[in-house]
Order: sequence, then C-alpha cells, then structure tokens
Amino acid sequence: MNIAILGATGSIGTQTLDVIRSCLPQARVNVLTGYGNISALAASVHEFKPELVWVPDGAAADELLEYQVECEILTGEEGLITCATYDPIDIVVNALVGKVGLGPTLAAIEAKKDIALANKESLVTAGSMIMPLARELGVRVVPIDSEHSAILQCMQGNTASAVEKVILTASGGPFRLHPKKQIQMATAADALRHPNWAMGPKITIDSATLMNKGLELIEAMWLFDQPMSNVEILVHPQSIIHSMVQFCDGSVMAQMGLPDMRLPILYALAGATRVASDYPRMDFLSAKALTFEAPDEDRFPCLALAKYAATIGGTLPAVMNAVNEWAVGQFLQDKIDFYGISALIAEAFGSYTVQDVKSLADIRKAEAWAMEFVHARK
Ligand code: NDP
Ligand code: MG
Repeated sequence: MNIAILGATGSIGTQTLDVIRSCLPQARVNVLTGYGNISALAASVHEFKPELVWVPDGAAADELLEYQVECEILTGEEGLITCATYDPIDIVVNALVGKVGLGPTLAAIEAKKDIALANKESLVTAGSMIMPLARELGVRVVPIDSEHSAILQCMQGNTASAVEKVILTASGGPFRLHPKKQIQMATAADALRHPNWAMGPKITIDSATLMNKGLELIEAMWLFDQPMSNVEILVHPQSIIHSMVQFCDGSVMAQMGLPDMRLPILYALAGATRVASDYPRMDFLSAKALTFEAPDEDRFPCLALAKYAATIGGTLPAVMNAVNEWAVGQFLQDKIDFYGISALIAEAFGSYTVQDVKSLADIRKAEAWAMEFVHARK
C-alpha cells in the first residue's frame, strides 16, 4: 500500500505516521506535506523517505533543504494537487485543516485514489460534489473522524435501508457545565483545554463552541446519505461511545473504545477492516459511568447555526465554514470573544444570498464572499 499524507505534521498526520510505524509495516509513505513546522517534517522525511514532499513556498523549501533531505520538493497550490494525485499512491490521508483541504480531496477522487478523510471541511462545503463523484469513480471515502468511523463500523453487516437514525455523540467540550456568563469570558487558553482529546487548535476551539458537532452533522449527512432529521446529537462526556446507529427493528449498535484517534486512523487505512494493534484496551470495571445529555443550543449557538446551514444547503455551509475558520483564528489570537464567533456567522447568514453548488468555483466564490464580509466588518 502506497500512502500520501497531507498535513503530516499535524495532530492527525503525526498519529497516522505512528499507526504506520506500529501497525502497518508493509505500507510505504510516498508523499508527505507540512506547512509551518519544517523541523518536524524534516524528521519524518528522514524516517519515512518519501519521494515527494510539499511545503508552502520557496522559503520553506530552502529551510527544509537545510536538513539534508533527499526528495523532490513541491510548493504552491498546484504542488499540493500533484501530491494528492501522484501516480503510485493508493490512498490519500487528508489531514489538512480547514478549507484548504477541499481542492486535494476532489483532485484525489478524480485521480481515483481512495481517501482516508480527516478534513471534515471538505464534506461540509462540497459533500454534494464529493460523494456522487466518489460513487461514480468507485473511490472509497473512509472517514477518520471518530464519530463517523464509529457509524461506519456499526453499519457493517447491515443495509443502509435498515438505518432508522444515526446518533452522533459529543463530549460537550470544556464548557459543557459552564453558565453562559462564564463562557462569554472564556479565553483561547481556556477553550484549548479539551477534557478528552488532544487535537489541533482549530478543531479544539470548534469542539468548545460545538461547531465541530455541527460540521460533523453535515459530514454524517453526506457520508451516510441521511437527512438531518435522521441524525441525533447526544452529549456523552466520557467519549467512550464514539457514536451509534439505531435500526428499523429498534436495535442500537454502539462502537466503543478509549478516546484514541489512532483507532479510527488504523481502521481507515486498512480500508474499513481490522488490523491488530497493541494500543491500550478498555477496562470496563475501572471506567466511569456512561452518561448522556441533550446539547444546549442556547449556550452553544454554533450548533444551531450549523443545523440552519444544513437545512438551507447550497453554498451556505461553505460560507459558514469560511467565516468560522476566520473567526476561530481571531479568537485564538484573543481578538474576538467566544460568542463573537457565532455572532459573526449569524451576521454573515443575514447578508448572504445562497447559491447552488455545481462546481469547485461556486465554493471558492462563496468563500471569497465570506472573506470580503469578515474584512469589511473589521
Ligand atoms: P493540525 O492543526 O494539528 O494539523 C493541520 C495540518 O495541516 C498540519 O500538518 C499543518 O502543517 C497543515 N496546514 C495548516 N495550514 C495549512 C495550509 N494553509 N496549507 C497546507 N497545509 C496546512 O490539525 P488536526 O490534525 O487537528 O486536524 C486536521 C483535520 O482533521 C481537521 O479537518 C480536523 O477537523 C480533523 N480532525 C482532527 C481530529 C484530531 O484529533 N486532531 C479528530 C477528527 C477530525 P504545520 O503543522 O506544519 O503548520
Ligand atoms: Mg469527531
């Protein structure tokens, strides 16, 4: 198996390398991409010896060369597409963060590469293009997101028509029990303290606002071809049940495990099959109780906004995603407050005229509108 890892220096990227190191000795890593963390990229290039390596620009390439790497170095948007479509590759792991992930996802599918997809933003913005194209070309899009991996695992051996609903679990994030007044004062440092998962900064903030669950709702609708009314969101603070599927006979299947992203990564790399690992096992006797709560859209308005975007569809999810990405960046720099993120998205919804999504250009146009909107407001 030949693998390309886009976003190899991030949280999912480094855990993917760990999975390959520990569980997939036959796999070959042909392509790696980094962005700002060139020293980490150089260390992985020395260890995995890929032929192609991508960095954003010439300055980053020069920095990488200082580490005496032996590989072809590509740069720019086109270089990233070359990485996603490189001929020898069987599977592309898309672990890029944000809207930059969409172009490589579409290009990889067009080149008939299977995808292990962490970049949920691809499906949120362009699920209506990605899923039909993948079906038409016989490409497998296997989710890395733990909830969606859980749903896929619960579906095994069942027909899609037997699904009554999908139950997407959410940890509730660091502010699950905090009153609104306290959440309003939250700083980026507070929001970055996730109770169960160590992840990149953008998704950690999305988890604190519950936008992550909103993005995952849209992701689940596309991946499993379900209407929004068939996807229930349930807060489960222990993050042991990663999601569930309820079937037409009333039976519910749940996928469980310790919160460890290496499990869904391994499952995706193995093409939704089981490969042995020596990762820590669940100990049910020492596990705390498994509890469930309804999500609170008043304290976490991003969830309601994402549901609205899912209902309206078209280019609205792309606008939401772009405004959210920008606002999360501002929040991380302490330039706006916690509820500034949802306020900005709601304001954008009020001034945007939704368009149909027929091509990547439609998404780019919507994202450009979102960037003009946020800059005009500053
Ligand atoms: P990180 O921020 O940890 O990593 C992002 C990766 O993308 C890094 O390799 C980074 O490079 C690279 N990158 C950043 N900006 C750009 C850019 N403009 N162009 C090209 N490459 C870029 O993110 P995560 O690993 O946490 O998340 C990746 C994706 O996976 C997201 O879509 C997230 O929602 C999803 N996901 C993550 C989970 C997790 O546990 N982390 C769980 C489920 C889903 P560098 O570090 O060198 O700057
Ligand atoms: Mg998730």
